[in-house]
Amino acid sequence: MNLAALAPWASHPGRSRGRRIAEPPSPPRNEHQRDRDRIVHSTAFRRLVYKTQVFINHEGDLFRTRLTHSLEVAQLARSMARALNLNEDLVEAIALAHDLGHTPFGHAGQDTLHACMQGHGGFEHNLQSLRVVDELEARYPAFDGLNLSFETREGILKHCSLANAQRLVAREPGGPAQRFVDGLQPGLEAQLVNLADEIAYSSHDIDDGVRSGLLTLDQVCQVPLVARWREQVLQQHPALALQAGRRLLFEILRRLLSGLVGDLVAATAAELQRHAPADDQAVRSLPPLVRLSPQVRAELTELRRFLFRELYRHPQVLQATQQAQDVVTELFAAYLARPQEMPADYASGPDLHRAVADYVAGMTDRFALREHHRLTGRRMFAD
Ligand code: MG
Repeated sequence: MNLAALAPWASHPGRSRGRRIAEPPSPPRNEHQRDRDRIVHSTAFRRLVYKTQVFINHEGDLFRTRLTHSLEVAQLARSMARALNLNEDLVEAIALAHDLGHTPFGHAGQDTLHACMQGHGGFEHNLQSLRVVDELEARYPAFDGLNLSFETREGILKHCSLANAQRLVAREPGGPAQRFVDGLQPGLEAQLVNLADEIAYSSHDIDDGVRSGLLTLDQVCQVPLVARWREQVLQQHPALALQAGRRLLFEILRRLLSGLVGDLVAATAAELQRHAPADDQAVRSLPPLVRLSPQVRAELTELRRFLFRELYRHPQVLQATQQAQDVVTELFAAYLARPQEMPADYASGPDLHRAVADYVAGMTDRFALREHHRLTGRRMFAD
């Protein structure tokens, strides 16, 4: 990344608000490159390969996991950051860390864990991602967590309830939760990763949905955003309509992704010109500046609605969801009743509910299934 080319409103690594525990610099890396390196070498990052996005991990090797999703988000965010002269290293660090707090079994796991934690502070995956990098990774002699820079931590905490934000701010005034209390926006790099995430999963869930057989290409092509690109592809490559195989799908998705990226870059560049924030701090009191054009925003929202209706609520997905909920609920109850079944550092903490949530949230899909079988004698998701 060429620091001289950074826009005045970009987060400059030389102007970082720093780490909670001051550390000497590590040249030639800048502070955000260093964050990225710490994230890639973390235990939680390695586990993402065996965590589900929509499909349960053991269902096959064809589908996205949290790791491939995070890599796709990082690729998209870097491309867009480069085009907008924003901080590529920072968006990469945020993107690679943004899902570290996800439980096994995707949203089913997280909703269930939240239910298990009622009356004990609840469970939010964004908050958990921050907890992983701030507290749970245990690899450095001088501190818990990865001691990341403020900007990376702020990007990781992309949503947060007001009650949780107030609790975090009480412990760390001016920290990454402060903006939720003050009603401010995060830096542009955090805004960019947030949209890169939505663009990535919208596109790859179509891909995984069709390849799993839960969606058909014809069905997907009823969505206007997809139909538009299908028409263009078939005009240029009419033979694809007659071919069996997935080239038509891949070509549609390739153009759809490029289209979304191009639209975001153009719409955001126009917003930045219009508001011309003086620096990266001025961005915070403006409306969100990273955005899609209104037309494409509406189309993407319609695509999201379609995926919610037809894929995430597909009977086969719901059936797997039900089993995943049972696994998490029963695991939670088992560890609560017998903390000694967890590793000693979890079993001995002051807040047993939080310790069980941390332990279960850190599991991969397959480890959760193995532990569930060991503790209950029942086998879920039997082949
Ligand atoms: Mg994500």
